[in-house]
Amino acid sequence: MADQVEKVVIIGSGPAGLTACIYAARAALQPLCFEGYNAGGLIPGGQLMFTTEVENYPGFPDGVDGPKMMKAFRKQAERFGTRLITQDVYEVDFRNRPFTIKSDDHTVRAHAVIVATGARANWLGLPNEKRLAESGGGVSACAVCDGALPAFRNQDLVVVGGGDSAIEEGSYLTKFARKVYLVHRRDQLRASKAMQERFFKLVEHGKMEPVWNATIVDVLGEQTISGVRLKDVRTGEQRDLPCRGLFLAIGHTPNTELFKGVLDTDDKGYLKLPNPPGTRTNVEGVFAAGDVADHVYRQAVTAAGTGCMAAIDAERWLAGRGIE
Ligand code: NAP
Repeated sequence: MADQVEKVVIIGSGPAGLTACIYAARAALQPLCFEGYNAGGLIPGGQLMFTTEVENYPGFPDGVDGPKMMKAFRKQAERFGTRLITQDVYEVDFRNRPFTIKSDDHTVRAHAVIVATGARANWLGLPNEKRLAESGGGVSACAVCDGALPAFRNQDLVVVGGGDSAIEEGSYLTKFARKVYLVHRRDQLRASKAMQERFFKLVEHGKMEPVWNATIVDVLGEQTISGVRLKDVRTGEQRDLPCRGLFLAIGHTPNTELFKGVLDTDDKGYLKLPNPPGTRTNVEGVFAAGDVADHVYRQAVTAAGTGCMAAIDAERWLAGRGIE
């Protein structure tokens, strides 16, 4: 691969990256995809690898297991000739053409690149939190993905965070839960005024309840979560709050460290697309798809949609330069 110049390289293998692969492969661009190795934040299969059941992806009326769905995406990408490298990209050169993309064992040159490195949900960093998330024990970083699961119906749930996401996820969960506790480390919300109004209305109706000035210091339960241990930030006092689900809403971090100084980002680090809905970035020939450029929708189906768009944009850009 060293001497040859790839038509298009795709970085990332979540729904955006693999959909871009499928479309690029079917357009005879013979895409090469760095699918990541889960070392530098790039997770093969993306965030859905941490999801138990996906019930909102169209075409799966009975729901589908997240990792199983990503396996199917991958298989479909390979079926049309995508080549996959299971390594993290650690360096790119988008200043000189053709572009250079480097992983541990591969240095690849490419005319066009699609960046689909996603965003990672921020976690509290507690050992039991990750364990119970990975085992499907009731800890999740996506209420829209997991909230409607039968295990959470009519149960007490906890959302942690005080921003728009926390309110949005919390209010979504009230459709299923008995009550949703919002645990926030301060006594004032960061969320927008409209979201705060929504929150306090739900509090009035007994659907949500704030737990102010509290941090979560442990997640309790063996197979499934039974509660969270709270610490009052003013007094240091600890107490346990029983719950059947914990939803993290303490922000996301886009995986854009690799492109710092080259690709334009907004103040939160998400890639900027100068001509939406087009997927091109500020560097000609570099396109972006999925959560790496989207802090608003962040759904598998929207990521897949923009992956398709990026592949079509890349194909047209290459064709415009006589590279077909
Ligand atoms: P955010 O605005 O950054 O809020 C993160 C929240 O988590 C903050 O309240 C923060 O507390 C808390 N937090 C951060 N680290 C924590 C930790 N280690 N332990 C406990 N709490 C922690 O993130 P977001 O809510 O995901 O929103 C991100 C962006 O998307 C925002 O611009 C938001 O407006 C937008 N968004 C919009 C909508 C909508 O309009 N429908 C929905 C979702 C998101 P502090 O407040 O103390 O810092």
